[in-house]
Amino acid sequence: MKRFSANYIFPVNGHPIKNGIVVVNDNNIIVDVIDPKGDVLELESMEFHNGVIVPGFVNAHCHIELSHLKKKLDNSAEGIAGFVSQIRTLRASTEFEIQKSIKQALSALDDNGTVAVGDICNTTDSFLLKQTSKIYFHSFIEVFGLLPSEAELRYQNAKSLLNDALLVNKSSSLTPHATYSISDKLWNFISNELSKTESTVSIHYGESMQEYAFLKDRTGVLAENFKDLGIADGIASNTTPFEIVKKYLPKQNPTLFIHNTFVQRDEIKSIMSHFKSPFFVLCPSSNLFIEGKLPNVPLFIEEGACLAIGTDSFASSNTLSVFDQILILLERFPILTFNEVNRWATLNGAKALNIESVFGSFEKGKKPGLNLITNFDFGQMRPMAQSRVKRLI
Ligand SMILES: [Zn+2]
Repeated sequence: MKRFSANYIFPVNGHPIKNGIVVVNDNNIIVDVIDPKGDVLELESMEFHNGVIVPGFVNAHCHIELSHLKKKLDNSAEGIAGFVSQIRTLRASTEFEIQKSIKQALSALDDNGTVAVGDICNTTDSFLLKQTSKIYFHSFIEVFGLLPSEAELRYQNAKSLLNDALLVNKSSSLTPHATYSISDKLWNFISNELSKTESTVSIHYGESMQEYAFLKDRTGVLAENFKDLGIADGIASNTTPFEIVKKYLPKQNPTLFIHNTFVQRDEIKSIMSHFKSPFFVLCPSSNLFIEGKLPNVPLFIEEGACLAIGTDSFASSNTLSVFDQILILLERFPILTFNEVNRWATLNGAKALNIESVFGSFEKGKKPGLNLITNFDFGQMRPMAQSRVKRLI
């Protein structure tokens, strides 16, 4: 049995507790959360820390296998179109380099207090190393392809990759890449597969204005790039990202909408009324890198949307730390409180990945991990730029 205390405990399922104590057993499972009503209790085998203690972070969107692209991409190129074409050319790397960078990324995630990750996979590169980590992973096996003639092959390849993933990690499922990168023919395969399961779906959504322009009337840089490559024909035009997800994604499956940088109020309303369990995942450091813009976060709060946090990959972000994303959001949107953003980074992410029975909050029977945040501003009740996070258990 161990007891952890700090100036404040943020249990997430309730108010912050001054001088609160989290009691865990030898397996790090929570057995009690004590509110000493402000007093500092001196208990046996208790560690008191200066700072605040929060549950382990859940990173709802990452691509571990792209870790070798750290600092290799140029963000002065044309938004998402520039990003997509650079990924295409830079993806090839040596096996040694790829495995080494994945290993480093896994230890960075652990150091930054991450306990669970929704991880997008296009290859087997990360499968074995992830199994050696104490972090929980859900592997989303991603499908994309605009050429109708390749639809069946793309789908079969993804199914075969999914089978490989399931051999090492039961928590793996098929997922579509984005609204602008899948032919109608391929969508039919994906849609049929997803509707047979209850698995969580993750889709890149509203990341760029080019996505809207491409789907509407084939204008914009993304459309031009695809045209140059001869691959813009397999998807109906005069449509919108919402019409695509409405048409092809089963509404009962929990769905993670990733990025949402250009999503407007009507779109939030439409998604929330159509889908049974939608989560809007924010990846601020990646959004700033690719588009130099953040989603209109207050809009999502006004509409009562469920928000979670991701980092995206080292290709578009210099950090895989969820805490760094919290700092960006609090700095850019002073209206937000740490208490609510911390909820997005913990319990909401756990709900999004369907693992809230174990992760996301300090509740008896859970094993959420404990993170200590130091240099906390107790006057404003929020972390500062110089705050640091450290995993306690
Ligand atoms: Zn992504």
